[in-house]
Amino acid sequence: MRYISTRGSSPAVSFEQALLNGYAPDGGLYVPEHLPTVTQDDLRRWQPLSFPDLALEICSLFIPSGVISRQELRQLLGKSFAAFASPDKVVNLLHLPGKDDGRREQPHVFIAELFHGPTLAFKDIAMRFVVFLLDFFLSRREGGSSPSSPPRLHVVVATTGDTGPAAASAIEECRHLDCWCFFPYGSISKPQERQMTTLVGGNVHAVGVRDCPLGGDSLDEVVIELFEDRGFMQKVPLTSVNSINWGRVMVQIVHYFWCYLRLCDHIAGYSGLIEIGQEVVFSVPTGGVGNMCAGYIARCMRLPIHRIVCANNANHAVTRALNDGCFSRKAMVATHSSAIDIVVPYNFWRVLYLASGCSAQHIQQWTRQFYESDQGAQIDSDTLTRLREALIGCVVSDQDTLLTINECFVNNGYVLDPHTAVALSAYRSLQPSLPPSLPCVVLATAHPAKFPSVVQRALRIDDYSALPAKAHHPAIERIFLRLPRLRLCSFDDFRAYIRAEMEAVDGYRVRVRQSKDDKVQGGGF
Ligand SMILES: *Cc1c(COP(=O)(O)O)cnc(C)c1O
Repeated sequence: MRYISTRGSSPAVSFEQALLNGYAPDGGLYVPEHLPTVTQDDLRRWQPLSFPDLALEICSLFIPSGVISRQELRQLLGKSFAAFASPDKVVNLLHLPGKDDGRREQPHVFIAELFHGPTLAFKDIAMRFVVFLLDFFLSRREGGSSPSSPPRLHVVVATTGDTGPAAASAIEECRHLDCWCFFPYGSISKPQERQMTTLVGGNVHAVGVRDCPLGGDSLDEVVIELFEDRGFMQKVPLTSVNSINWGRVMVQIVHYFWCYLRLCDHIAGYSGLIEIGQEVVFSVPTGGVGNMCAGYIARCMRLPIHRIVCANNANHAVTRALNDGCFSRKAMVATHSSAIDIVVPYNFWRVLYLASGCSAQHIQQWTRQFYESDQGAQIDSDTLTRLREALIGCVVSDQDTLLTINECFVNNGYVLDPHTAVALSAYRSLQPSLPPSLPCVVLATAHPAKFPSVVQRALRIDDYSALPAKAHHPAIERIFLRLPRLRLCSFDDFRAYIRAEMEAVDGYRVRVRQSKDDKVQGGGF
């Protein structure tokens, strides 16, 4: 299987190259040449598998065994999930009990806790694997076959809060990678900031940027400039593990299959809520659309998903596109669900590409319209019909986010993080327009302990220590006992500073490496 660009003007590449490149050279995103499909028999065969084994089956559909052997793939997946609270299950699916206040019984609503990794957000699931895979490819290259390729890569991450910590925590364990986390200073939560600034590995560099006009999107722009600067790239070899990286999307396909198969099991007093083949709904708090794109692909692969609810906050480019057929940018609005404050949801290009019947021509035209005209990209009616068969959008206000957190705690005794609250609230609003009694899986993308100030506000608790036990997590308490290491600058200076800083660090790495090589060869001083 090879990978092609959504913009159609770059050559097809191997899985390895797609992973190392991040973006395709024409600025498009890599997609598999064709999507595999699964049968109900496959699903039955996969039902007893552990999460890592299911991931092995699904990833094998996208990675030819010539690129990485099944055994190596198994090891890397095992290593990726070993740091989770439950390495066999990874994702915890639980039933949200119905309200008993006389209102209509909740249909079968389930919460899929995707946040049991080391940084307590769903990003850990795919990020660890992609990072370890990059390190694996680099080790292999170092081993011989292509000596001219860089022995070390700088991974650049612009983060709205959870990508940076997930990347940093995985990269800290890697030999061949440096991690640069850029974040809009003040716009992410303190626990998120600490998760990046208290790592001890000297290869993690957290950079807070003040006064970003578009929040995280401003940082994305600078990252893209770095990648387009060939002179700089030659000096400092870069890669990206942002959600545009194909590897991230690929691994996120797994949790849709996993949750579906768990609904077919006997859980929470239900004896197999559904039979294999019956449809379900997923509700996804959506920012950069990596997660929802994975769900869309799972549906294209024939996982029986009725619809995916695209749960947006006030930054709702995707919901607008689904409703009006027009994909456009608007100014960023800072919300309580800051990890999905995204103005340019990059992975939506992949979804559009697939829904347009893989038309690179359409993508080129829409990209021009998106960036150059105020109206944005006008999606044609065939594509729009296909999008609407799979996706349904909903916008959730900050007020409803707080209310949902509050209600869910009072009625269900469960503490939601703000993003999961957006997804639950969106599902509840759309439920009347969905066929009755379909089970819904709400993807819980972060632990509430990552967003204490929003949870405090929702539960009307002034004192942090008075938050319910479920809103705390020992991993978060621990990082507040540590000394942060943070590079800080203003957005105006950022472009210049970051180039100089990265060059300085890269130069240092090269010197250290050369002195080691000299020792190995018995030379040196
Ligand atoms: C990143 C993130 C999301 C959004 O995921 P996308 O793939 O970018 O749409 C939702 N919730 C949380 C907590 C996140 O960190």
